[in-house]
Order: sequence, then structure tokens, then C-alpha cells
Amino acid sequence: MSFIDHEFPRTATPSPLVGRVLGLNPGMMTGPGTNTYLVGRRDPILIDTGAGVPDYVPLMERYLGERGFSQPARVVLTHRHRDHMGGVDQLRARFRGLAVAKMIHKDSGLPEPIDDLRDGHKVEGEGVTLLPIHTPGHASDHLCYYLVEERALFTGDVILGGSTTVIPSEDGDLADYMDSLRRLQGLDVRRIYPAHGPVIENAPAKIQEYIDHRLLRERQVLEALGDGLLTIPAMVERIYAQVPKALHAPAAMSVESHLKKLRRDGRVRETVVKDAPSRWELA
Ligand SMILES: [Zn+2]
Repeated sequence: MSFIDHEFPRTATPSPLVGRVLGLNPGMMTGPGTNTYLVGRRDPILIDTGAGVPDYVPLMERYLGERGFSQPARVVLTHRHRDHMGGVDQLRARFRGLAVAKMIHKDSGLPEPIDDLRDGHKVEGEGVTLLPIHTPGHASDHLCYYLVEERALFTGDVILGGSTTVIPSEDGDLADYMDSLRRLQGLDVRRIYPAHGPVIENAPAKIQEYIDHRLLRERQVLEALGDGLLTIPAMVERIYAQVPKALHAPAAMSVESHLKKLRRDGRVRETVVKDAPSRWELA
């Protein structure tokens, strides 16, 4: 797997309406780093802010200068994870009074001030209209943004370029995630701008691939249980045999999310074991 691509360009202009500045935070979970997108013909709207890496602001300034922009008009966030929201303070230190909005939902410790943005609102910029789409599953507060003029979708961490996403067992929810993917499938989307990795041109095929991938994982979890692999570590060992060990911890979160969904569906039972992983069995 080559999700971390060190050759990935630090800035790009994938369309006349969309620019991209990399958050400079590469890693196992972030690939080349977080993509932050500038959307609009002038005074662009910034989607996400990266993790707060010091070199990000100078890179942003240089890119804005190249495009003849003075500063972002405002910031909208996809979700609360640090690699998306962590750059808010440094951007505000550079661009005074910069307005920031996200869907406020079970949040604490947000940068202040912050505006609440909801599904059904409309974000308008110079020649662009962004429609926030509530897409919980990876995070309960997650918004994707539909760019009407391009029939394109900024998917945040719901769909990634070059990897599948993690469904954290705490704030994530696999049933919500599947519903979110099906909702995206109902939109007329041609192109996907993911928060990590390259632009995805065949959006409907990619969304279907993500749905199929989760259904495959669910079958694999049920098969593992049927074969007597009763703990999450044992299941991860088999199902993620081809995946680097360093990714087994997030994989365990996704397996747990699958098990929680299956439990809710009445298909598996959990027995909590003291000081050891829970034992799971088919119901
Ligand atoms: Zn995330």
C-alpha cells in the first residue's frame, strides 16, 4: 500500500473553481496529508485547515498569491478531527477575523468563535455554491460539501483517494456510514475531491466500491466468527492479513464497528471478559 505519497504535489489547481493546498501532515492515517481546498473564483471558501503544521500557512500564502487571491473569505470544516480543524488558530493569527463554521454536534473545545452549519444551509462564494450534506459514520458531525457548479463532492474522510476510511468505534457508526454512502449515491456526483489522496474522477463507481468493501468486510467478520475466531484481534489478524501491522489498530476499530452494527441487527452476541478482549459469537 502506498497511501503515503511523498511526491504528491503540495499545491494544485484541479479546476478553475478549485485549488488545493496540502496540510503537510503525512502519515499512516493521513496519506500525503490533509487536502485543504480553496473554492471560488475570488475570495475563496476554504474547506478544512489541516493539522496546524507551521509550514502550512506560508504555503497557503504563496498559493493564494499565485492565484491572485488575498485571503480566504471564510472556512468551512468537514468534521472535528484534528487533521481537519487543527489549523484554525494559525490561520486566524494570519488572517484576522476569519469566520469558521462546522456542524456543531456533541462538540467541546472548539476554536471560538465558530458558526453552526447544517445540512440544508447553503454556502455561497464567488461563482460557487456549496451544499453541506450531513454524512455521519466516520464522525457524527461530518459534512460533505456538494459543489453545484461542477457536480463535484468534497467528501472529507467519508471517501478517500487511495485508501478506505476508518470507522472509529466511539464516535463512528457503521450503519450511519452505510446510510451516508447510499445518500451520496443518490446525488448527481461526477468528481470527488477527497480530504486525503488524489481527485477521483469516476465518482459513482468509487461510491459503489466503498459500499461493496464494507459489505465484504461484514461477510468476512461473520465468516471469521463462524470459523471460531471470537476476539477482535483474532479477526483482524485474518481479515487484514494483507495490511501492514501498523494499520491493525485502526482496523480493529473498524471490526469493532462492524460487530456493533451486527449486534444491533441481532446477528452477534458479545461476552465481556475481564482484562481481555470481549468474546463474540453468532447469535
Ligand atoms: Zn477524520
